[in-house]
This record gives sequence, structure tokens and C-alpha cells, in this order.
Amino acid sequence: MINSDKTNLILKYTLKNALDYNGKANFQSVLGRILSEKPELKQNIKDLAKEINETIKKVNSMKLEQIKKEISKYDFEEKKHEERDFKKLENVSGKVITRIAPEPSKYLHIGHALVFIINSGYAYKYKGRCILRLEDTNPEKSEKEYVNSILEDLKWLKIKYDKKIICSKRMKIYYDYAEKLINMGKAYVCFCSRDKIKKLRHEKTRCECYNKSVKENLSEWKRMLSKKYSPGKANLRLLGDMESNNGTLRDPIIFRISNAKHYLLGNKHIVWPLYDFENSIEDSILGITHVVRSKEFELRAELQDLIKDYLNLKKQEVIEIGRFNILGAVTQGREIRELIEKRKVSGWDDPRLVTIKSLRRRGFIPESFHELAKGAGLSKSETNIDIRILASINRKLIDDRTKRYSVIFTPKKIKIENAPELKVKAPLHPDHNYGFRNFTTKKEYYIQDNLEKNQNYRFMHLFNFRDNKFISRELDKNLDARLIHWLPVSKDLVNVEVMMDDGKIIKGFGESNLKKVKVNEIVQFERNFFAKLDKKEKNKLIFWFTHK
Ligand SMILES: [Zn+2]
Repeated sequence: MINSDKTNLILKYTLKNALDYNGKANFQSVLGRILSEKPELKQNIKDLAKEINETIKKVNSMKLEQIKKEISKYDFEEKKHEERDFKKLENVSGKVITRIAPEPSKYLHIGHALVFIINSGYAYKYKGRCILRLEDTNPEKSEKEYVNSILEDLKWLKIKYDKKIICSKRMKIYYDYAEKLINMGKAYVCFCSRDKIKKLRHEKTRCECYNKSVKENLSEWKRMLSKKYSPGKANLRLLGDMESNNGTLRDPIIFRISNAKHYLLGNKHIVWPLYDFENSIEDSILGITHVVRSKEFELRAELQDLIKDYLNLKKQEVIEIGRFNILGAVTQGREIRELIEKRKVSGWDDPRLVTIKSLRRRGFIPESFHELAKGAGLSKSETNIDIRILASINRKLIDDRTKRYSVIFTPKKIKIENAPELKVKAPLHPDHNYGFRNFTTKKEYYIQDNLEKNQNYRFMHLFNFRDNKFISRELDKNLDARLIHWLPVSKDLVNVEVMMDDGKIIKGFGESNLKKVKVNEIVQFERNFFAKLDKKEKNKLIFWFTHK
């Protein structure tokens, strides 16, 4: 057997795909097979794609005989599926307790899903516990709608947790710790404007507000809590290190005033903790032992450690992983909100977004996210998630259970002279016995491709033709016919619309058997792509594009 280095692997699967499809290999199919065998190759997907394309060009120009000869050199014994798992955790003593801590100010996207899967996964791998903590202490941004969507997404993603904590219900805890800090002389009430604070922090200078006694600070803090100040007029700041090169340490604001109505508490409170403060307190008092988080939090870690040091709170083992960059997609909640407001996207489940809501609607399944998370592991380098990698995992997982149907997009009607009138059946799946689809054909067909002169074609499962004239029925390798798909012109065809991942809708005709497909079922449109049935309307079926 030839060794399985990259070039050979590409050639092997290109040849195989070409042989299965009458000499014409398909890029997505080859890529999918290669990534499922060697997932590490996705690190350099650009080069891989280039090499696959070159190989396909070479193989597709070969005669079938030559493809057969070449392929005999390879071994196609099924490789045993390797169970992927998370890497080992360091410093485990006692029960592992992890947390997932979303802020209910947006819908979850694929990056959140991966971090949450990893955190929850570790807890159960080590027979520990995982806590869900809804960090809803930003009254301007937190919404019930987001809380609900997060809970729904976690459930759909099969991310387990034992307990749910809602931070806004624990304000007294944060206030008590704030008072403790003030009593220790480690926090002070500042009356400077946001602009002045920003300017002085930039200049590494402390403002005069610091020069108050503990007693004065305590009484000002009480005045803040009893709503004597309006937003922006007073902030509680932590005594940090004004000289530090890490800007987050320069006396950061830890509590601010906001009049915004909180989705849960209304106007009960106006003094709200900022992220780092709330996070430090909660991680410690909940007994969290390990936190897996992305590298973008690195600078905040020093600040959080300082808060824990002051208050003598227990620190966590922090495991940093690369930041998940989702190539070519907007993931920032703020940016998405803006796109929605400007009506540039239709909503949080717009097919151009990589929110869980959108990917679920398109036909991605939860298991694909878990597979991807295990693969992403604890790599510290930036992890670029090309959506194609998730697609290749998803394809591998759904392929076996997905029925095949024919749909012709932007159909062109052609007539084949001398075509026999046939009753044919085609399998619902090439490898599994899911039954058959029946077609009755006459002389007229719909096709999607542009036909070339003097070129032999084969209608899949049907017959060979050239220049709109019938040649023969049986598969004939000597014809070197290009395989295309078709539908018989008939009044039984169904109108199909597909919402694509660029937000555009494409239209076509589908075989009548599609009427049996149920809403939310994922199917494959042969030689086109996978799609999920979104809606059945009176005269048409509306699908969402899953992936190639
Ligand atoms: Zn000040």
C-alpha cells in the first residue's frame, strides 16, 4: 500500500470520486473525505484546496481506464473511526467544577458553542460539575429574548450543566464585596467624567477623587446605592496600578450607575458591577476550579487576579485556547445588531450569520459542533474556523442518513430525439437501502447544465446522448460521457426555492417524490448540495442551504 502522505491521499480520493461519478471528481466530496481522514490538514486549508483542485483537473482529464488502473494501487479498507477526545487537564485535585458564562445580550454563535462545549465537556470527563451562569448585569444590553435563546441553544447543542445562576439576582453579594474593598482602602468613589477618566488613565495619572477617607468613600458609595447620583456622575473605582503597562489595571471602574430598566429587576437597582468584578467574585464563590477561555481575555486575567488577591478569594486554573476566528463571518453581537437594525440581514437566523439559530435552521446538527470542539482542543494559537471545516464534519455525519432527490435549478428545457419512453427507478441513497424514487420519462427534460456541441453526455440512471440525440442506454465507459442530472418535463414536478448562505434565493423544479419530505428533514439534492426543508407552502417547498 502506498503511504498516506498528503499528495497521495488527495490523489486516492480524487480517483475514487472520479470513478464513482463517471470520471468527474467533485471538489467538495474530495475535500470532505480528506478532512474526515486527516482533520489536521484543515490547518492549512488554502493550500489543501489548491492541491485538490489541481489534482481534480489532472484526474478529470484521464480516461476511465486509466483512472481504474491508477486506483488499483490504493487500499480502500475502511479506516477505523478514531474517537476524538479533549486533551488531559493539568492540576486536577478534587472535583473539577467548570462554568459556562454567556452574557444574554446576543444570540450564541459557533465560537460560543465551542468554548461552552469544551468547558462542559471537561466537567463531565472528570466526573465533576458544570454551572451555567447568566451574566446579566448590564441592564442596557440584557434581554429576556436572549436568555431564552441561549437556554434553547444550549439544549439543542446538548451542552450539559447542573445548575443555573442568574447574576442579577445576586447583587447583594457584589455590593458586600464592594463595601469590603472600600473598607480596605482598595476602592474609591470617583466623580470625574468618562472623558476625564479616560484621559487620565492614558496619562497614567490618578485623579484627586482618590484623596478621600474610607469613611467619606463609604458614605458616597451609600449615596450611589440610594440613587442620589445620576448616570456618569459617580463611579466606584478599584485601586489598581496607574503605572502599569496593562491598561486594565489603571484604577478600573468596577461599579457604574445606569437608569436603564433591567429586563428582570426593572429599576430596583441603578448601581451595576462591571464584567471583571462580577466575573472574579462569581468564579471564586461558586468554587470554579478550571476555566477554559479564549486568549482575548489574557489582559483581563491580571485585573481579575488583583481583585481576588485583595479579597482573598480562590483563583482558578485558567486554560487559554486560541481565539476562534470565524473566517468571513460577522460574529460580534454589536455588529450583528447593527446589521439587523439597518435591515442588512433579516434577523439573528439570517443564513449569512454563523449564529447557532442560523446554522440549526440550515441543517447543521449538534454532534458536528462537539466533533469540532474536540478537534480544536486546547491549541493556544489562533484557531481559524473556516465554516467549511464544520461543513465537512457535518457532511460526514449526515451523509448516511440523508435521502437523495433531484432538483434542477434555473431549469432549461431540452428535447432528446429518439429518446425511449422509460419508467426508471433511482435509489434514495447510493449505499443504503432506503427505497427508490420512480420516474416516467418522455422526450422532454429539464437540465441545469449548459450543453456543449460534440460532447457525449449521460443522464444519470438513464441513457447516453449527444447533440440532443439519443445514443444508448447502458453505461458505456468508452463514450467518456459527462454525467449530468435531469428531470422529466411533467406537471407533477414541485416548485423548489432555496435560501442560500449568501441570503439569495434560488429557484428550480424538484421531483414529485419531494412532496413526502417532512419539514426539518435534511436531504441531498443530487450533485448540488444538502438542504433542510424549512417550510411547505401551497405551491412550493422552501429549503435552506446546508452545505455542498
Ligand atoms: Zn475622579
